[in-house]
Amino acid sequence: MSNIKKQFEALQAAKLKLRNSSADERSGKIQALMNETINRQEDLFKAGHAERGTHDLDIAAEIVMLKTEADFISKNIGKWVKPQKVKGTMNTFGKRCEIRYQSKGVVLNMAAYNAPTAECLLPAFSAIAGGNAVAIKPSEYAPGSAQIIQEIFNKALPADEAQVFQGGVETAQELLSLPFNHIYYTGGNAVGKIVMKAAADHFASVTLEMGGKSPVIIDESADLENAATKIAWGRVMNAGQVCIAPEYVIVHESRKDEFQKLISEKIQALYNSDGKGLENSQYVPRLINERHHQRVTGLIQDAVKKGAKVVCGGTADAKTRYIEPTVLTNVDESMNVMKEEVFGPVLTVSSYKKREEVLEMIGFRQNPLALYIYSKNDENIEYFLTNTSSGSAVVNNNCVQAGTNPNLPFGGVGASGMGVAGGFEGFKEMCNARAIVHQPLDRFRDFLIMLPPYSDRYKNIIMKAIKKS
Ligand code: NAD
Repeated sequence: MSNIKKQFEALQAAKLKLRNSSADERSGKIQALMNETINRQEDLFKAGHAERGTHDLDIAAEIVMLKTEADFISKNIGKWVKPQKVKGTMNTFGKRCEIRYQSKGVVLNMAAYNAPTAECLLPAFSAIAGGNAVAIKPSEYAPGSAQIIQEIFNKALPADEAQVFQGGVETAQELLSLPFNHIYYTGGNAVGKIVMKAAADHFASVTLEMGGKSPVIIDESADLENAATKIAWGRVMNAGQVCIAPEYVIVHESRKDEFQKLISEKIQALYNSDGKGLENSQYVPRLINERHHQRVTGLIQDAVKKGAKVVCGGTADAKTRYIEPTVLTNVDESMNVMKEEVFGPVLTVSSYKKREEVLEMIGFRQNPLALYIYSKNDENIEYFLTNTSSGSAVVNNNCVQAGTNPNLPFGGVGASGMGVAGGFEGFKEMCNARAIVHQPLDRFRDFLIMLPPYSDRYKNIIMKAIKKS
């Protein structure tokens, strides 16, 4: 038997013990993981810097995100694990109805590389809160972070409650062949399909946190200076390797030139404030590896070859995996940059005259993970919110909706994902909402009127109920 299978079986054997664990025990485990993560912050900073050239404070912000979630769970889990009474109906008259959130069993969490600490730990918090054992498969593209994450789990939790599996596609595939009860996956949607198919073999439920092309709509009324600042930040952050990053801007044609001028200025203002050049900025991270560097530079070259104009940026250095924050305009649907998720520091700008055109441009693509609207016109804001679909949406800001407020579920829709993360919704995702009906046995409440042979009284009740409805 392979080691992976043996470790999986150890997790399976702990199912019942964990299902019966108390809210305090679960909270204690989450806090132990959190404390160990905080203890290892310096190591995580170093790993993030080596892998993606990330600034320490950006990794620190990821840890704060985790702490917000851990503390929220600890504060609320006592309520969540209690049976939740629900109202009855005529059909359940006399009975007591409740929902119990019962653990699914063993949860597999397969993570991406762009925010490895949060992607490995946050779903694990929800799984543990739900009383599950958890297997974590970090991305092989962030091996330094993955190693520290393994050490954090090993130190905080016993081996039969959580296991970290290192490796690439082969490890992932072996894990996917095992009968996990729930699979939480973060990554691209090509692999998302593989995960979903593998889950079908064992009827495992899935949470798929995927990506897509998140649009930004800027109408005539927008505060452009404000919008350009936030969009520059949202696109360059983590070198564009953010699932909810703005991917393409659709700006009203009356404001297009002004926006293009402002976004170029804001990229400089945020990321070259000391004038030493963007490539020397401590705030401009790197692409994760050579393959992704080539992929993103390839998107710029393909677009330029097909007629795109470079508003700013456009240079790259393969040796350091640097890509200059780039804005392209004059783009069209023949260009790969408009077809694929960029997941790099490249933004495109298109324009519209009538707002119906915006719906066509967005509706033409699969549902995005996020959608951003910059506008001061409430009627326009409602129009765009109502007539589009995305996992989440933000008005007059971007990238502030994930990991910031556990009261908001986070997830995609259609090709950008299914299921949600965070807070009570994330806890429920890791549980079976078990419906329980208690039948009191006294004769006033335990009536068997609906059993054959049917009486006239039963017939009257049923036929009257139909009329009413
Ligand atoms: P990826 O799909 O390449 O890898 C994700 C995981 O799948 C890794 O653990 C990897 O080992 C595994 N994997 C890769 N190929 C596999 C295969 N053939 N069979 C089985 N497993 C396999 O994703 P990535 O490139 O690491 O991440 C980038 C993507 O993730 C982007 O699309 C981004 O939008 C998305 N993302 C989404 C969220 C979210 O919360 N919605 C967050 C971060 C990233």
